[in-house]
Amino acid sequence: MTKPSLLSQNVIVIATKNAGKVKEFAHALQKLGKEAASLLDYPQIPDIVEDGLTFADNARIKAKTAGDALGVPVLADDSGLRVEALNGEPGVYSARYAGEGATDADNNAKLLRELARLQMNAADSARPNPDLPDGSLILSRAQFVCALALYDPATGMFIEAEGTVDGMITDRPHGAGGFGYDPLFWLPGLNRGMAELSKEEKQQISHRGEALRKLLPQLEHL
Ligand code: IMP
Repeated sequence: MTKPSLLSQNVIVIATKNAGKVKEFAHALQKLGKEAASLLDYPQIPDIVEDGLTFADNARIKAKTAGDALGVPVLADDSGLRVEALNGEPGVYSARYAGEGATDADNNAKLLRELARLQMNAADSARPNPDLPDGSLILSRAQFVCALALYDPATGMFIEAEGTVDGMITDRPHGAGGFGYDPLFWLPGLNRGMAELSKEEKQQISHRGEALRKLLPQLEHL
């Protein structure tokens, strides 16, 4: 017989040790009357190996590993950048694109190197005109993706959601906010770079914001 769901409990553990993410998720869960803990509160949980082939796989792996170990509901996310000209790379390797322990600057530099290589090989490499008024070139279409998985260890069930945001990779940074690949991610609809948005503006349009907005209504009646 299946055990009763634990999702009606008050506390959900967020499967991350990133204090910024904890704050973002805690704020959203608070609106549903839920309290958020995180893996910062459970140092006994070792780092979880993210060896899935998709963002959704990795979110499920993290939520299930932590949920089974702790016996409480766990919410996990996995996110990254898919670049069209690179056939979806760096994808699930976004955090370690330039190697284990790579910094955001290392990863951005590698992304520009890979796209420059493609440009050099392309027949139309000598582009006469810049794409943006400041002289920047657009190198590829791209998309940020965020997968969320909430796991209930009592029933073995997942509640999942995915959010995306479309944009372009430019050949130089715009803005100094955000993190990761934000400086190279241009939003043609807004005519601004992701790193030029305030935290609130980014939350409104980002892949993480969209995934949360899709997930939260599914938790309202639990
Ligand atoms: P994770 O979800 O923490 O595993 O994120 C993986 C990697 O994807 C990060 O290290 C960043 O390089 C990239 N990434 C995820 N979300 C964003 C974002 O909102 N802006 C910029 N880069 C991001």
